[in-house]
Amino acid sequence: MTILTAPQFQDADAARKYLEAQVWPNGPICPHCGATERIGKLQGKTHRPGLYHCGDCREQFTVTVGSVFERSKIPLNKWLLAVYLLCSSKKGMSSHQLHRTLGVTYKTAWFMTHRIREAMKPNGGLLGSNGGPVEADETFIGRKPGAKVGPGPSHKEAIFSLVDRTGGVRSYHVADVTAATLKPILLAQVSPKSTVYTDSAGQYRKAKLDKEFAHHETVNHMIGEYARGLVHTNTVECFFGLFKRGLIGTYHHVSSAHLQRYATEFDFRFSNRKTTDAERSDNALKGISGKRLTYRRVSA
Ligand SMILES: [Zn+2]
Repeated sequence: MTILTAPQFQDADAARKYLEAQVWPNGPICPHCGATERIGKLQGKTHRPGLYHCGDCREQFTVTVGSVFERSKIPLNKWLLAVYLLCSSKKGMSSHQLHRTLGVTYKTAWFMTHRIREAMKPNGGLLGSNGGPVEADETFIGRKPGAKVGPGPSHKEAIFSLVDRTGGVRSYHVADVTAATLKPILLAQVSPKSTVYTDSAGQYRKAKLDKEFAHHETVNHMIGEYARGLVHTNTVECFFGLFKRGLIGTYHHVSSAHLQRYATEFDFRFSNRKTTDAERSDNALKGISGKRLTYRRVSA
């Protein structure tokens, strides 16, 4: 017996009930008007299973309406298995592997993984809102389309990551790592109450972060300094290590257009690293609501 033989991975009806319990722990919520009362279950052979009727707005809905699973022809139990596999595999899972494991086409598997990454996006709130430390750092990956290889990293794709040591990580695929690019991200994502730790790179000095946050402290890698008590960027560097090993080992080549989605996937696993595989997967299912992704948007 492994968890993969659990009912929600075998049967679409069991999967729907499992998903309802995750998304609606306190009972159904109408996705059309937000009502939680006067909601009735439509039963009988003329209705598809899991259909509800809202007495307030008179619309009908199921648990997948407005979610990344909406209007999918893939049975819900395969969706739930894909979510579990992607959440429990430390370095991710390729669409080729998922295609073989789920018995769906490669194209379908590819589309499913991108939809699941959409469900993994963070739900707002500021990092460091409890006044705790936030590490910020950038790393370089692969090669920008058409870019000439130079001595510096400017031909590579840049990823900027923020790690709340007591919470999550958020990564951004950025055009460059100038103060003008990084500062607005820091201001939008990090609480002014937090202490920000970076290395001594010029862009962080130029951004005058000490004026925006409670404190800004730096470690100077140039003189071989990697930590001064709590002042370090080891957590974000650990994340970069996992991200790069996963990209190389599992995904091989990630196009510039999709790099942000892969970063979001690694963010999600790292942010939920202290949970069990099952809890991490349930957290992803909770994120499915209101994040419907059209094929047009993925391909664009
Ligand atoms: Zn309603």
